Amino acid sequence: MTDYDWNNARPYKVKRTGIKAPSSNWSDIECPFCQQQVRAYWWSISGGGKRCLCGAKHNSAGMTAQPIKKKASA
Ligand SMILES: [Zn+2]
Repeated sequence: MTDYDWNNARPYKVKRTGIKAPSSNWSDIECPFCQQQVRAYWWSISGGGKRCLCGAKHNSAGMTAQPIKKKASA
C-alpha cells in the first residue's frame, strides 16, 4: 500500500468538466507536479482518489499529493 505526502500536497487545476451519459461527471485535471492531464470520474476521485501517470494522487478536495518513497531498510 502506498502512502501519499498530503503535508506537501499542491492544488490541481481543473481544465474542464463534463458529463458522460447517464450520470457520470468527470473532470480533466492538470497535475501540479508533472502537468499531465488526466480525465477523472468523480466517483473515482471521491473513492480512492485518481492516480496520475506520474504516481501522484488527486483527491476530492482539489489537492494532489506525491507518493512517499520508502527507503529500503538497511
Ligand atoms: Zn502527475
